[in-house]
Amino acid sequence: MYALKCIECGREYNPEEVIYLCECGGLLEVRFNLDQLEFSIPLDGSNLSVWKYKDLLPIAIDPVTIGEGGTPLYHCKKLGRMMGIKNLFVKHEGMNPSGSFKDRGMTVGVTKAIELNRTTVACASTGNTSASMAMYAAKAGLMAVVLLPYGKVALGKVAQAMVHGAKVLGIKDNFDKALMLVREVSDKLGFYLLNSVNPFRLEGQKTIAYEIYDVLQSVPSRVILPVGNAGNISAIYKGFREFEELGIISNVPHMIGVQAEKASPIANAVKRGDMEIIPEKNPETIATAIRIGDPVNAVKALRAIRESDGTAISVSDQDIVKAQLDLARLEGIGVEPASAASIAGLKKLAEDGIIEKDEVIVCIVTGHLLKDPEEVIDICGKPHIVEPDINAIRRAISTDK
Ligand SMILES: *Cc1c(COP(=O)(O)O)cnc(C)c1O
Ligand SMILES: [Zn+2]
Repeated sequence: MYALKCIECGREYNPEEVIYLCECGGLLEVRFNLDQLEFSIPLDGSNLSVWKYKDLLPIAIDPVTIGEGGTPLYHCKKLGRMMGIKNLFVKHEGMNPSGSFKDRGMTVGVTKAIELNRTTVACASTGNTSASMAMYAAKAGLMAVVLLPYGKVALGKVAQAMVHGAKVLGIKDNFDKALMLVREVSDKLGFYLLNSVNPFRLEGQKTIAYEIYDVLQSVPSRVILPVGNAGNISAIYKGFREFEELGIISNVPHMIGVQAEKASPIANAVKRGDMEIIPEKNPETIATAIRIGDPVNAVKALRAIRESDGTAISVSDQDIVKAQLDLARLEGIGVEPASAASIAGLKKLAEDGIIEKDEVIVCIVTGHLLKDPEEVIDICGKPHIVEPDINAIRRAISTDK
């Protein structure tokens, strides 16, 4: 039904083999034989979830599931009006069980670990991957090993990895180095690696595209999302491409990746017109989930961007924070900083006159506000301290600060 295929040389591997990269060094991709698929999933917006699309997922056993997917797609009229866009939709992936889109990948990845008879799963993480993996490993009864860049992970995410019982190791270096190390450790110790270099994880994440079409019953003009290791943009593009191959849709959206200014190797490559990135050695941004200098899925992402006639841009931390507040205060949608990069990116494109008024735009917001409460308090400050007295309360309410 499906094969593991190298995106560079086309070599095919048996999907029962535990392998993450081709011998040529190329990334692998799950390829379905879509011609032979009898598609019978009702695309009427009903019963949304990752496993609604199980016919298009490379899993044969009962899944390890905690209710992932089926996230809300909000029509954000006020935020859209501010930018002169009528049809702005925001898909809130922070509403997944662990609070980020990583759950879509992990429900498939952890189930695959069981299919492959693995007892330990492992990842490096800027936070959300570890939170999600720990949660699904707990449900599945697998051991979870996590490498984090020490001191650079939002508190809520560390708490999640800890409470679900993962072995959490803080590495005194950045994410890119932690990923290098966990790849080596997994190889040596036989752990099943669940970073987004794992092609099965991306299969779960492609359901974001399926759900967007399922709800809108049309193809948006652009899909805009934050980009770190660049797995998600590749996965969502793949989802749309599969619907196109199946004849369900006749075009795909322009894929727009948004990075933080000081962690933007993909946006820089696009600017140069290059299909290869120059890694950023010391990535820095308030949006810790996308604080990545050497994205493993860069090749897939750059192809998704080029083939969809999309683009990648970068935004400042200041713009990210502004977008986070706008989304929270105009639309009641609370997201962590990385997620707000998609809104900041849209604003930039709108200001540059690149987006037309009646385009249908979908912004993906990737993680929940409560992941990173410390950042919020830094921006918004702490509550005023007021004497327990009605007059004091009156005074406090009527003064500005
Ligand atoms: C993982 C993550 C990203 C980046 O996704 P990639 O697939 O690595 O590009 C963005 N935002 C949040 C909240 C994340 O957890
Ligand atoms: Zn190859």
